[in-house]
Parts: sequence; C-alpha cells; structure tokens
Amino acid sequence: MDEIGRLDRREMGGVEEARPSSRAGLRALPSVQRLLEAADGAGLLALGGRSAVVAALRAALADARTAILAGAPVPDDATLLAAASAALAAAPALRPVLNATGIVLHTNLGRAPLAEEAVAMVAAVAGGYANLEFDLESGRRGTRDAAVEHLLCELTGAEAALVVNNNAAAVLLALSALAAGGEVVVSRGELVEIGGGFRIPEVIAQGGARLVEVGTTNKTRLADYRAALRPETRVLLRVHPSNYRIQGFTAAPALAELVGLARETGLPLVEDLGSGALLDLAGCGLPNEPTVRASITAGVDLVAFSGDKLLGGPQAGILVGRAAMLAPLRRHPLLRAVRIDKLSLAALQATLRLYADPRQAMERVPALRMLATPAAVLQARAVRLAALIGAAAEVVPAEGFAGGGTLPVAALPGWAVAVSGPADTLAARLRRHDPPVIGRIAAARLLLDVRTLPEDALPQVAAAVRAAQGA
Ligand SMILES: *Cc1c(COP(=O)(O)O)cnc(C)c1O
Repeated sequence: MDEIGRLDRREMGGVEEARPSSRAGLRALPSVQRLLEAADGAGLLALGGRSAVVAALRAALADARTAILAGAPVPDDATLLAAASAALAAAPALRPVLNATGIVLHTNLGRAPLAEEAVAMVAAVAGGYANLEFDLESGRRGTRDAAVEHLLCELTGAEAALVVNNNAAAVLLALSALAAGGEVVVSRGELVEIGGGFRIPEVIAQGGARLVEVGTTNKTRLADYRAALRPETRVLLRVHPSNYRIQGFTAAPALAELVGLARETGLPLVEDLGSGALLDLAGCGLPNEPTVRASITAGVDLVAFSGDKLLGGPQAGILVGRAAMLAPLRRHPLLRAVRIDKLSLAALQATLRLYADPRQAMERVPALRMLATPAAVLQARAVRLAALIGAAAEVVPAEGFAGGGTLPVAALPGWAVAVSGPADTLAARLRRHDPPVIGRIAAARLLLDVRTLPEDALPQVAAAVRAAQGA
C-alpha cells in the first residue's frame, strides 16, 4: 500500500508544466489506492490478480492525465475502472472463441471440438478421483491406458496400443525406443515438416538415431530402401505426407512392398500416419485418407497417429501395432515424460466409444459432422446468418478445409457470409469482441464460413458483426 502511494505521488510529477485549470483537473483524479478498492468491489481482481490490476489502473490514470493536459474533462471513477477492465480483458488468456474460418481442425484454435459424450466424461473425472492407474478387480496398480487399449485394438485390428501426450511424442518415443544409436531409413519425399516445428529429420536426431535418406523428392523405389540397409539399420520409417502432396511424375513403393522388405530383413516398419482416420471417409463422401486399420492389415508393425485430427478427440498420440514392438516403448524412460493426463484419457475413451457404430461417429463427433455437412445445409445456415446480420452481408460459396495438416488438397464445397466493410478493420474488431469471432479474409473481403459455426451461435456472430460495422 505504501509503495502504491509513493509511486502515485511520483507519477504526479509532471504537474508543474500544466496550466492552472489542468492542474486542478489532475488533482481531482483519484489515487490508485482508492481505485483499487473500487476495483476490488467491482470484481476486477478476478481478471488479473492484484499487481496486474494495479498496473492497469496506473495506465488508465496516466492516459487520463495526458487527456486532461490536452484539455479533456476529468473522467469519473467508473470510466477509469472500465478502461482498466478493458486492458485486463485484452491480456493473454485462454478463452472460448467462435471459429468462422471454415477450417475444421484449426490447430491455432484448438483442433477438434469434443463430442458431448467426451465433454461429459471429462467433467465426470475432472473434479474427483478416477481409476487412472488402479485395477478395480485386484485393488492393485493398473496401467494408465488400459481403458482405451482394447477399444483401439478393436477399432484398428491391432494387437496392442499405447497412448501418449501427442503424435509428435508418439513418434519420438517410438524412434527413441527402437532406433537409438542406429539408423532410420526414410524416403526423401517424406521428410516433412508439420506445423509448429515438428520436422521428421529433427525428431529422428532427437531420438538418438541417424537419418538415412533414400530416393529423391518425387521418386523412391523399393530398391532404394534395399540399397540403404546396413547392420546399423534399426527402423524403416514411412511418413504420411499430411500437409502436402507431390503430384505429377512420382513413385513410391506400395505399403505391401515395404512390409515385404521389413519381413525379409526382420526390421520393424514404423508408420507416422499423422491424422490417422479410423473410418473410411471416402465412404462418407469425403476425400480419401488412409485408415489406421488399412496399415495394420497390410502388416505395418507400429502405427502412430493423432487423437485430435480426423479422429476428432482430445490432443493425444496413439501407437498401435504388435505387442512385442510396443513392449520396449512401455519400458522407455521417455514414456513418463510424455504420458497422457486423465482429462485427455477420459475424452479419448468417450470419443472412441462413439466409433463402435460408424454412423453414430459421423453424427456425434463434431469434426466428422462438420466435415461431412452437406453444402445445402451450409447454404441454409449462411442465409440465416446473413439475414440476422442485415443488409451489409452477402451469401457466397466458399471452400472449407479439414486443416490440421489433413486432406491438404481437398477443398470442401461450402458457404460463407461476406461482410461489407474494410476487411482488416472488421476482422480486428471481431477478434476483440466477447466472445471473439475469427473469420478469414479472401479477395479483400471478410468471410464468415458457417461450416465451423454451430447453429445456436449464429445470433451471437450476427450481433458481433453489427457491433463491428457500427463501431
Ligand atoms: C500432425 C502430425 C504430426 C504431429 O502430431 P501432433 O498430434 O500434432 O503432435 C506428426 N506427424 C504427422 C505426419 C502429422 O501429420
């Protein structure tokens, strides 16, 4: 308190320069201490904690002094508190946003929204205890991912499964446990970088192995793999080029050929499948994406994939394959550092249960439902949103994307509302709205793509747009 008073007096130091009327105005400003008490009463401390609130109040007072010296009237306490409150609300904090980008698995917006069943399961275990590592039959210690292992085995046809924090961790763990000190053979066409700095060559190095590149960017043949094999070779790695496609004059060995080479040499074939669809999406009117089951059926020894891409669950890394291949991963010290937490595990279990019936999964898993929404439904939604916004909005066809580095070249036909006005300014105002609305800009127009907007959020989005246009 003492410190606040002292600093407050020091901040009043510029007074000498002011005209007499301004000086009286400056003296009429409240002290930080008085504002802090009012802020406490107004619940501002919940927004940022004491020191952040004090800093915000000081900034509001400093702005007021500048304004008074320029001839502005003295603001009342409520105005100063509102300014401080707005500054606190703008501080970095995790909060829900409305995704109007049309990108379903938007990594920056948290990838897959969870199914209601998954949210309920998270809520059920979050505030209390759960048998996370406790075997209810024997009363002894159990394994963390026993709850989902049998589900994953059923859904993929694999013998065993292991779940970690994310797919980057899954690949790192697999290479650390199977290839450290040796060599990993990968096609040059598969040395991918996934968003956020996950680069296959660096992950191999981090796993303590040496990368051996084979083939060329566009063509790699089985003979290239064969020629690279040495006594130091530990793993044949196949990486799904999630976020790009090499088109034209290309070649890569069929999965069956690689499996054959792995069998012949006794080397493990590990596949980083990236998104790892559990369902045949082509059968649901979506672009084809390799399924985990197809890889297991083909004979891949270990498949790694994400929990929050096309699976539509929580952030998680899933490894399925031969039990003997997973055993060294379970014993590896890195497993402890990359283990999954109980909330994600709860969400994953509930999401996987929905897959017992593929039709149910398509309806209940939000990512799948949004990807498969028919264009006519999206058009009707866009018409409704435009009507709620009013005159300054136009319904336009728009291409949606899966995002998250999945189905990169497949644009999904959909609909959006184009909002009239300066696109950058409107976009910035919508980002500052509560809740923030995130659109996308195309051809200098702000588009609100309705694929990723729930029906019941449309009135909120429309209100945000009207406020942004009116501001
Ligand atoms: C997305 C992706 C990863 C990283 O997965 P996370 O779950 O985001 O850690 C790794 N490899 C491939 C091929 C991917 O597509």
